[in-house]
Amino acid sequence: MRITRCAAALAVFGLALAGCSSEAGNQAADSAKNTAAVNTATKFDEGTTMAKLSEAGKVTIGTKFDQPGFGLLNPQKVPEGFDVEIAKIIAGQLGIKPENITWTETVSANRESFIQDGKVDFVVATYTINDERKKLVDFAGPYYEAGQDIMVAKGNPEGIKGPDDLAGKNVCSVEGSTPAETIRTKYPQAKLTLFDVYSKCADALSNGQVQAVTTDNVILTGLVAGAPDKFELVNNPFTKEPYGIGLKKGDQKFRDFINDVLQKSFDDGAWAEAWDRTAGKITGTEAPEPPTIDRY
Ligand code: GLU
Repeated sequence: MRITRCAAALAVFGLALAGCSSEAGNQAADSAKNTAAVNTATKFDEGTTMAKLSEAGKVTIGTKFDQPGFGLLNPQKVPEGFDVEIAKIIAGQLGIKPENITWTETVSANRESFIQDGKVDFVVATYTINDERKKLVDFAGPYYEAGQDIMVAKGNPEGIKGPDDLAGKNVCSVEGSTPAETIRTKYPQAKLTLFDVYSKCADALSNGQVQAVTTDNVILTGLVAGAPDKFELVNNPFTKEPYGIGLKKGDQKFRDFINDVLQKSFDDGAWAEAWDRTAGKITGTEAPEPPTIDRY
């Protein structure tokens, strides 16, 4: 299935950003050079999730597999991107090396249930923190703030400048995502087509099945970068999407730990370095100011 996804990514994004190419290989080499620090002197209170994971020496992390710049499978079928680097920083502070991480694909709609069912220990997957989701899981972070935007065919033949222009248009997003919910509730005139992953929306835009794709600007930027002669970004963000690390509801100590690790990475430059060698390469932008952690 992973191989198929890689082949699908090739078809959609072209070679350069498909995670099946020499460019992605270079990214792999880069990440290998800059591997997140692994803390070999960890000490955690007995019974905590941190103690359990660090004693086991391994962790299962949910991320995306088809989002260039944040989480995209490379030719070795290992995901790469900013989310993946953030996850490695957290694992490293649990004393766990990247090779001892099991990566599980979490799509937008199954993140809460994978956390609740213990299929993953935590999720780093362009995952917006919101009150609805907080009823089911907890969030550390935010570690980045994106905004919902729109991707259209190159040349913007429909003249779409913002969400109000989506009325009457076929618009693609992903089940269980906040952008889909925003369209459904605030722009009900748009005709929504939903898939499980965004690469399928990119396909639908290239074959004319939809006139627009909507989700977070940074995800769309990754899709545009893979096919710049096919797609363009409207570049008019209309929501705030603070990205958090999803974990089991009520695990306050684990949440505090992850928040501390994130804060340290903001302060010591590891976060900015992770940005520069992943998402920053695609957006062409320097690392922004890190957001303020919300210890709700
Ligand atoms: N950040 C949004 C969300 O969590 C959109 C991206 C995604 O679907 O992963 O729903």
